[in-house]
Amino acid sequence: MRKYEDTYRHKGLRKKLMDTLRAKGITDEAVLEAMNNIPRHFFLDSALDEIAYEDRAFPISEGQTISQPYTVAYQTQLLQVRPNEKVLEIGTGSIYQASVLAEMGAKVFTIERQKKLFDKTKDFVFKSRYNNIKFFYGDGYEGLPTYAPFDKVIITAAAPFIPPKLIEQLKTGGKMVIPVNEGEHQRMLRLTKNADGSYSEEAFDNFSFVPMLSGRNGGN
Ligand code: SAH
Repeated sequence: MRKYEDTYRHKGLRKKLMDTLRAKGITDEAVLEAMNNIPRHFFLDSALDEIAYEDRAFPISEGQTISQPYTVAYQTQLLQVRPNEKVLEIGTGSIYQASVLAEMGAKVFTIERQKKLFDKTKDFVFKSRYNNIKFFYGDGYEGLPTYAPFDKVIITAAAPFIPPKLIEQLKTGGKMVIPVNEGEHQRMLRLTKNADGSYSEEAFDNFSFVPMLSGRNGGN
C-alpha cells in the first residue's frame, strides 16, 4: 500500500511552481490557488516524488502522460470555470486536470478511452475529497449525451478536428478549450457556442499533446 504524504518540502516546491507559472503568464489566481492546493506528486509514480514539481509532463502508463503544469494552468485559465458549472473533460489520464477543475468547484464529467487508466480511477486517492468528479470509460468523440448540455468542455489530447458531437453537447454561450492539430503541434483554441448552434473561435499558443484517438482500448 502506497503511503501518501504531503510534506512541507512538497508544499514549498509547489509554491515555487506557482511562481514559475505566474512568471510564464498565468494570471488567474483561482487557478493558481487550486493547483497550489493539490499535491501533484500523489498523481505520479512514487519514484517521481522529488521531481513532481518541475514544470514538465511525465509518463503515466499505457504510453500516456500527465500534462505539464503550465499546460494545465493555461487550459484551465482559458476555460473560465465557475463553481457548480458542468464541465466535460476528454482524457482523464492521471486525474490531475479533473482534480484542478473539481477543486475549483466544478461538477466534472471525465472520459478515458484506455481501460487500464479508467480502472485505476477506482483507487483514486481523493475519491471522497473530489466526489464532484464522475468517471466514464468511453470514446471522447461521442461525449456524454445523457449528461449534456455542459457549460464547458476541455480536451486534453491532440484533436485532429473539432468533434461535432462535443459542440452539440455545449450550452449556448458555453465554451470549449481544445488543442487542434496544426502540423507538428497543436493550436489551442477556445470556441464559444452561439444561439444558432454555430461557434466562434479564438486562437492561442501552440502546445504538444498525445493524440486523441477514436474508439475504446481494452475491455468492453
Ligand atoms: N488530463 C490528463 C492528461 C492525460 S493525456 C491528466 O491530467 O493527466 C491524454 C489522455 O487522453 C490519455 O490518457 C489518453 O488515453 C486519453 N484519450 C485519448 N483519446 C481519447 C478519446 N477519444 N476519449 C477519451 N480519452 C482519450
